Amino acid sequence: MDLGIKGKRALVCASSKGLGLGCAEALAEAGVNLVMNARGAEALEAEAARLRDTYRVDVQTVACDVTSTEGQAQVTEAAQGVDILVTNAGGPPPGMWSDWEREDFIKALDANMLTPIAFMKALLPGMMEKGWGRVVNITSQSVRAPIAVLGLSNAARTGLTGYVAGTARQVAPQGVTINNLLPGIHATDRAESLDSAVSLQKNISMEDARAERAATIPARRYGTRQEFGAACAFLCSQHAGFIVGQNILLDGGGTNLTM
Ligand code: NAP
Repeated sequence: MDLGIKGKRALVCASSKGLGLGCAEALAEAGVNLVMNARGAEALEAEAARLRDTYRVDVQTVACDVTSTEGQAQVTEAAQGVDILVTNAGGPPPGMWSDWEREDFIKALDANMLTPIAFMKALLPGMMEKGWGRVVNITSQSVRAPIAVLGLSNAARTGLTGYVAGTARQVAPQGVTINNLLPGIHATDRAESLDSAVSLQKNISMEDARAERAATIPARRYGTRQEFGAACAFLCSQHAGFIVGQNILLDGGGTNLTM
């Protein structure tokens, strides 16, 4: 399917690995020029070069922490005038409700709620002026069904979800859509680190920890970054203009819900 977005320009935050990279690659494959970001410059430059060579698109890189005020200013400057925004950042650490202090919450809210909101505030006006734009926020399945040890993530991401629900309806008249993609378990570094926590906690091998988690998913496997990226690229396509303010689970059926 031709996604109809060849020649458009996208900012994909936190995109040197994992789900962000999956989104950047699927957009590059559709002919979209990119601004890519991550903290570590080495992996970022390597992936940017690979996408440039493979898909013949223009790729700019901004190596910085996207959750910091300075990082956001740097990325926003490079991304002025983009047609597509994909927000992403690392997730907060797991823990116990009784351990988290105000500072832990502020950090999680900054990274997973206020950072995407800052990018929307900075880049939505340009899209609205052009009468076309797409925003996809990478959130989590924990927005639909809480993961108890990820209380910081549950809190920050549901805050973002509430903000998007209203804002998506305010910008839709100008041809701009905002939607959230909710990953379940995907085979990325983040999943590796959660597997290694299970392996340590239960004193089992990484392979067993992975198999145990995969067994909880009806699809009986982890998702891939390529599948995730393809869903993101579709939401950014010409064909998705009537999908507004939705929360789309990509979880192999892992979240046990009727709707
Ligand atoms: P990942 O494989 O660890 O990749 C994270 C990417 O983001 C890397 O490119 C990393 O590069 C970059 N990054 C992290 N923090 C950043 C920051 N502050 N500023 C700029 N770049 C940053 O993670 P993932 O699995 O793709 O997860 C992406 C998001 O989805 C996370 O918020 C995660 O919690 C959420 N999620 C993932 C899963 C899953 O199963 N994978 C499930 C539910 C939710 P640098 O380290 O070099 O900055």
